[in-house]
Amino acid sequence: MTPTKYPDGNVFFRKLTWEYPRVTHGKGCWLYDDTGRSYLDAVGGAFVSNVGHGVPEIADAMAAQAKKLAYVSGMTMSHDAVEDFSRELASRCAPGLDKVYPLSSGSDAVEAALKLARQYWAELGKQGKTRIVALSPAYHGNTLLALSASAREHYRAAFGNWLVDVIRVPAYDSAALEAAIVEAGPETIAAFIAEPVGGSSTGALVPPEGYWRRARDVCASYEVLLVADEILVGSGRTGTWSALEPDAVVPDIQIFGKGIAAGYAPLAAIVAPSRITNALAAGSGGLNHAQTFSHHAVSCAAGTATMQYLAEHGLVERCARMGHALHERLAALSKLPSVNAVRGRGLLAGVDFVNPATGKPYDRTARFAESVTRAALDAGLVVWPNVGHADGTNGDLVMLAPPFVVSEDELDQIVDRLSAAIAKVAS
Ligand code: PLP
Repeated sequence: MTPTKYPDGNVFFRKLTWEYPRVTHGKGCWLYDDTGRSYLDAVGGAFVSNVGHGVPEIADAMAAQAKKLAYVSGMTMSHDAVEDFSRELASRCAPGLDKVYPLSSGSDAVEAALKLARQYWAELGKQGKTRIVALSPAYHGNTLLALSASAREHYRAAFGNWLVDVIRVPAYDSAALEAAIVEAGPETIAAFIAEPVGGSSTGALVPPEGYWRRARDVCASYEVLLVADEILVGSGRTGTWSALEPDAVVPDIQIFGKGIAAGYAPLAAIVAPSRITNALAAGSGGLNHAQTFSHHAVSCAAGTATMQYLAEHGLVERCARMGHALHERLAALSKLPSVNAVRGRGLLAGVDFVNPATGKPYDRTARFAESVTRAALDAGLVVWPNVGHADGTNGDLVMLAPPFVVSEDELDQIVDRLSAAIAKVAS
């Protein structure tokens, strides 16, 4: 494939050796570039475009808000956009989770949620409760506290002594969680943060039956706040609004991002119960996490319009239905020699690779996941690579998370194109 503009221009791209197609527009599950090529977006960019591209209702709601009021500081004033967004989001959360703090990225929201947990205990006079427990593998973002909570070695390596010490427990093992809390001393621990279903770091690992009820009990009995990072798996992605709904488990703090405004605006949010915000109100008077673009009017309007669009078109239910159709089709991929397993729930799937010659993950130098992603892109399919789930460094995955509007025909195309890309790279 010929690079369109690279390396010309002034953009400091995230990957400086990647050939970036220049996308001009999108509609539904499809993206189009300036050379006339089309791409089937099988991962909503980065698990974001849940309602598909080019939805005029959401664009119109944002434009209307920008014309009326684009911005006031969230420190000093309120407006309809943030009141409406907070009401819409709280109405979709479990009873009690009723206070919404909008922010502008997932990492930012993870930082705020963890600070909220620590501040909550300090307000109650338990200043010793400061440590965080997190899973391995896990990913919670790229700012330094969120990265500290993430078990992603290739992102962490360069920043060693800037990161804080986080207690790591193996993903979805409730006995290990309890043992780690007891060993560290519950009086030292503020929060346990985890994704309800593993996102990209585990290749859509679905926890064993009963894990979340047990983890909920463990957190409650040791006075540890349960922080559910639903940035990737929430907002309907796994077929229910919250990925904890099937387990009937209510976290202490819930975090949304990515699909909450489906890419129409950079938006994330933490949701907490009044018992937590009341402790802050009675103590220091507010959350110690001020950001210029929190409670942003246009972003909130995008979030409200996205949630309303999902509801009006029954898209979360559709995600559950089409999720079954996707996983039925993906069963065929499991038969490829270089595929170890296919996992997931709803319209979220992880394809985990294995080197058939060794029965182990490919050597990292083979860059298998990246090569499959490039081969898929060259064949007009957008997927997401992830590496390191096996031991922090090794392990190759490709993730799928198509928009909820995906059709059965598009699912067929996704699976056909992906299987051709895997076969090409494996050979
Ligand atoms: N948490 C999870 C589970 C994520 O998947 C991500 C991003 O991929 C983040 C947090 C960080 O979100 P952002 O990239 O918007 O900062």
